[in-house]
Formats: sequence, structure tokens, C-alpha cells
Amino acid sequence: MTLSVLDIFKVGIGPSSSHTMGPMNAARRFVLDLVEQGLLERTAQVGVQLYGSLALTGLGHCTDRAVLLGLEGHSPEGLDPAIVEPTLTRIRSSSRLLLAGRREIAFDEPLDVLWHRDQTLPGHSNGMRFTALDGSRAVLCREEYYSTGGGFVARADELDAKAETAAVRVPYPFGSALELLEAARAHGLELHELVLANEGAWRDGAATRHALMHIWSVMQACIERGFHSQGLLPGVLKVRRRAPKLFRQLTEAGSASPMQAMDWVNAFALAVNEENASGGRIVTAPTNGAAGIVPAVLTYYRRFEPGASDDGVLRFLLVGGAIGMLYKKNASISGAEMGCQGEVGVACSMAAAGLVAALNGTNEQVENAAEIGMEHNLGLTCDPIAGLVQIPCIERNAMGAVKAINAARLAMRGDGTHKVTLDQVIATMRQTGEDMSAIYKETSQGGLAVNVPEC
Ligand code: SF4
Repeated sequence: MTLSVLDIFKVGIGPSSSHTMGPMNAARRFVLDLVEQGLLERTAQVGVQLYGSLALTGLGHCTDRAVLLGLEGHSPEGLDPAIVEPTLTRIRSSSRLLLAGRREIAFDEPLDVLWHRDQTLPGHSNGMRFTALDGSRAVLCREEYYSTGGGFVARADELDAKAETAAVRVPYPFGSALELLEAARAHGLELHELVLANEGAWRDGAATRHALMHIWSVMQACIERGFHSQGLLPGVLKVRRRAPKLFRQLTEAGSASPMQAMDWVNAFALAVNEENASGGRIVTAPTNGAAGIVPAVLTYYRRFEPGASDDGVLRFLLVGGAIGMLYKKNASISGAEMGCQGEVGVACSMAAAGLVAALNGTNEQVENAAEIGMEHNLGLTCDPIAGLVQIPCIERNAMGAVKAINAARLAMRGDGTHKVTLDQVIATMRQTGEDMSAIYKETSQGGLAVNVPEC
């Protein structure tokens, strides 16, 4: 499995990469397969079965909505958030679905979308089964998919082969942080140069720069929308958006506080995650639940660090993306597998490393910052109240962003030598996630989810 930085940073919609974007991608892939196999015109009914964590927290994470949109052929990247509500209203009020955007079939949602809360498919706790039937209810096609975090989707055979993305040969392959550092040392490269060279296996340097600046612009637009959207977030918790008020306070009153930058970092992170919670346009970094940390730290860099530049932004995203790849390859970025250490912890580690790269730290300082960013998130559980990506998720991104900046500062004060390596902390995160009880892995069966009343 060879990953690109653009597999880690993807434009999508909220509120969840594993429970919204993944199921939408899977549903779309299923109907496109029907088209390719010439089965679409014979399909009279489609059934969807959701298992494990998807079934337990899918309602709060909008999995049902994502599946309907995916069956109509929409993708998270291409979907205009403005058409979501009208499309869902049309499907639900007419009980008819426009399969792949071209074949209208009857669709009885309570019967055609089943939630198996007490069952898990063998490959992963985020399992889905799609079935297409003809007019006489004979099965035309049946497929199982897994949503493995960050919007990635795999069929069962692809899970085993770890082949979610096409095999691509890069000039500097690396499977661990040690291999990454050694390759950079051997070739006299800074980490961002090495990653940019690897990206050349997919597209030329100018195209990579353009794509990453687009990612940065989507992040900035998300923060702006978050600052100017008022009201309550969707769902039973009736959580009020905090970013607009904080933005107003910081803008109007100004502040001579030495902690002013931290207030702004909190505001940036809250803005992104409130947008995510409301189903808005975001960048997975590496997931939706943890989507606020990288943009908050990057915006901090651009606004508060002297000498900050677009080149620094590119260094940040290239290196932060490479750190995300290490977690994806050697552990997981799925809250359903690792708990929140796999989402907020990974984003914190990526942002810490990215900030050091933007500030022209050494390769060893980058590795040190990434390690610190994860070490102090180990064991972080996933226990969203009411299955909504709101509490603790939104505030946790603000905490993760501040922690990432501190990790970068600690690393920049040292020379890169340290006791615990990034590879060791990634292995520790994976083992901790495997040992963690399922009630703390995106099931809303433990932690805050059972100790705090939903309304
Ligand atoms: S608690 Fe963490 S892992 Fe769980 S949904 Fe929220 S952000 Fe994602």
C-alpha cells in the first residue's frame, strides 16, 4: 500500500470520515460497480446492512444520510453541502431513489437500511453489506465493504491485501519513521523534499503544490464559515456554536494577553469542528473528527510565526501528511479501532511534525515533535455522547492543537535526540488500541457517552 499525502488530506463533508465519508464512498462504489457490470438496469431494489460501530453510532454520525447520497452517485469531494437536505427530503418523501443518478427505484428506508447493532463483520468494526435485487427478488450482486478510517474503504479481499490504494513506486519508499529518517539522511534531503519527490510518482511538483494549496484554501474557508455561522449544531444535544462568539471577542476587544495566540488557536479549531459537526465542507486531517487540529496549527503558523510563508505551509502539509501515512500503515487512524488516540492523537502528532517542518527544524526535531504529539495522547478513548461528533470531539480538537504547538516547541528547544522513538510510540498506540475495550471505540457504550445525559 503506497500512500500519497493527498490520501491523508482529502476534501470531504462532515461529520465523520469513517461513518459518513467511508459509507458514502462504499455506496457509490457499489452502484458504480453495478453500472460497470451492466446490472444497473435490472436492479429493482437495493438493501444496505450496517454492522458494529457503524450501526451503534451511525445515526449520530449521519451514516444513513451518507449511504443514500452515495447510492445516488454522490461523492464526499464532489457533493455540494447545499443539495444534501433537498436530496434527502426528495428520497424520503417519495420513497424513491435515483440509483447512480440515473435509475429510479422504489426505496423503503426502514426495510432497506438495516442496523445490526449486535453484530460485527469479521474484517473491521465498521462493516457494511450492499445487496442489489432484480424484480423477482433474485440477488444480482452482493458486496461487503469496510470503512477503515479517514474516508478509506476496502472490500474484504482488499483488507487482507492492504491494497486500498493502487500500488505506486516512489523513489524513497519508507515503512517506518526510522526508514524515513535514514532515507533522508542517505540522500541529503529534508523530509519535505523527500515527500515531495515521492509525490512525483502521482503528479509533477507544480501539481502537488497546487493541490496542497487548494487543501489549505479549503481549510481556511472552513474556519471562516465557522466564525460566521451562528446557532445550534444538529442533534439532540443542542450544542451552541462557540467559535463565532470567540471570534467576535478576539476581534473586537483585542487582547494584550500573552495567551492571545492560544485563544486564537482554540477559535480556529472550534470553527472547523463545528462546521464538521454541521455536515459542512472540511478536509480530513487525517479524519473528520480530528479535522480541526492541522488547520488550527497551520493558521497559527501563518498568523503568528514571524517569516511564515506559503512555502512553510507546503512543508507543513508534506511532512504532516507523511507522519499520517506512518500511522495509517503501522497502526490505524480509525476511532473504531484505536479510540480517539487514533484520530485526535494522530492529528496532534501530524500537526506537531508539520509545524517543526514549517519552522525549518531538523529532520530529527520533526520526528521528536511527532513522537511527543502522540505520547501524551496514548490511551485517549472515543466516547461521543449520543453518537454525535460534538462532545468531546469539538473541544478535544482545541486541546489537541494547543498540545501540538507545545510538542513542536519542546522539540525545537532540543537537538532531536530523545529516548522514545516515533516508531515505538506508534507501536504503543496500536497495542493500546487493540487492548482497549470496545466500549471506548466509537460505540458510545462507555465513558462520557454513558455518564452524561443526552439532553
Ligand atoms: S471522540 Fe475522538 S475518535 Fe471519537 S468521534 Fe470524537 S473525535 Fe472521533
